[in-house]
Amino acid sequence: MSRRLLVEERTIGAETFRLERVYCGKPKCKCLAGGAAMHGPYWYAYRRVDGRMVSTYIGRDLEVIGSKRLRAGNPRKRNN
Ligand SMILES: [Zn+2]
Repeated sequence: MSRRLLVEERTIGAETFRLERVYCGKPKCKCLAGGAAMHGPYWYAYRRVDGRMVSTYIGRDLEVIGSKRLRAGNPRKRNN
């Protein structure tokens, strides 16, 4: 079960990026208070893999992902 609070959402190409605050699941953590006490917000990339949504942790800064992807590329991608 994921307990996340959506802060912002962006769609870039086939992927959806979501800025979310999260609960870590620890029983006495401050994040249980909710809202601004939750962890993050952190960016996650969501994409559809074999019919289901898969999320990938990015971090606090979404801007890094553009340059990172340009360098790394994606050799398994079969589009085009
Ligand atoms: Zn916590």
